[in-house]
Amino acid sequence: MRSVEEHQRVVAAMISARPAAAAPLDQSQGLVLAEDVVAELALPVFDNSAMDGYAVRAEDTDGATPERPVILPVAEDIPAGRTDQLTLQPGTAHRIMTGAPMPTGATGVVPVENTDGGVDNVAIYARSEPGKHIRRAGEDVAPGTTVLRRGQVVTPAVLGLAAALGLPGLPVIPRQRVLVISTGTELVTPGTPLQPGQIYESNSIMLAGAVREAGADVIAVATAEDDVAQFSSILDKHATPENEVDLIITSGGVSAGAYEVVKDAFGRDGDQGVEFVKVAMQPGMPQGIGRVAGTTIVTLPGNPVSALVSFEVFIRPALRAAMGLPDPHRPHRPAVLAEALTSPRGKRQFRRAILDTDAGSVLSYGPPASHHLRWLASANALLDIPEGVVEVSAGTELQVWDLT
Ligand code: AMP
Ligand code: MG
Repeated sequence: MRSVEEHQRVVAAMISARPAAAAPLDQSQGLVLAEDVVAELALPVFDNSAMDGYAVRAEDTDGATPERPVILPVAEDIPAGRTDQLTLQPGTAHRIMTGAPMPTGATGVVPVENTDGGVDNVAIYARSEPGKHIRRAGEDVAPGTTVLRRGQVVTPAVLGLAAALGLPGLPVIPRQRVLVISTGTELVTPGTPLQPGQIYESNSIMLAGAVREAGADVIAVATAEDDVAQFSSILDKHATPENEVDLIITSGGVSAGAYEVVKDAFGRDGDQGVEFVKVAMQPGMPQGIGRVAGTTIVTLPGNPVSALVSFEVFIRPALRAAMGLPDPHRPHRPAVLAEALTSPRGKRQFRRAILDTDAGSVLSYGPPASHHLRWLASANALLDIPEGVVEVSAGTELQVWDLT
């Protein structure tokens, strides 16, 4: 049997980064910058007012007090967005709004609160300090400044800065493009009636959600019956050059029984580019990995818990690493087990668990068998019980994967 670490390495080695590309801002969030970004524009773009008030020559307001205001004629009104460059004549004021361009010759802004708010003439109650309430061009960003670094994750603030600089897109490591295929003749799409012997298909929506949560794109989702011809035609339909699929994830059909469609499609002996292996873990022992017509395929077992835990252990970190994300792995932390547990000999076991981060303690949540999806749905952690351990007593410290 292959160890979890070994299979993690094999999967990671088969999932590689897409070439860097320019992505529109609205599709860049959460991606990693592939290059430094150098500003071509100044921010602020031009000298502008930081207050609603009056642009003045500061010395024209000397001596102003509430009792003895300075009265100036208001020669212009400058709302934000006015595009003509005005000149302030000495002894006059321009009414100006926050973000509006400063007129040439003005050296200060009197906030409206320090005036009577006049429209034709304004009474100024306090002297203006030269330079005060003026945002200078380039004081935030001077042109030529490297404002963002390669390797940085695109956050909302990064998007805001890029847009402020007038950039329609950013150079990023693109999202991995993933195709998700469920297999099983027993599977029925939710929303349609079940016949005896049928169950609702739950892996594709779950794995597609996990792909997106990992930051990757789902290109298509499909379900195939346990029929090699049908499975192959679904692959051909979606894994096209136009779809630029980086990774195909299948679930089901890789165990030891008959009607194992994925194994049958690729040949059980691995001679068609996909190898089927047993990994020393529970859940998720039967795994497969390879290439189909040049595209990487990871074949997960069908039991829902096995499928999702396998995704967590093998695919999620590999996808995130291929997108250059700084934290490909779930946060791991030690926690004290608040109960005694047993674990299968020779297998690394991942138990659904409830982690109490404040107390630093953890409890398993639900049975270990791989069809108990209900417990996984409400667990906040995976308990990672090492391969060599068969009994764990209460009070033992274990590694826990924080799923929150
Ligand atoms: P398999 O790996 O195909 O032998 O499937 C193992 C178990 O998981 C069987 O009980 C299947 O019915 C179930 N299963 C497989 N695929 C899915 C799926 N997409 N949705 C829900 N259950 C599934
Ligand atoms: Mg099946």
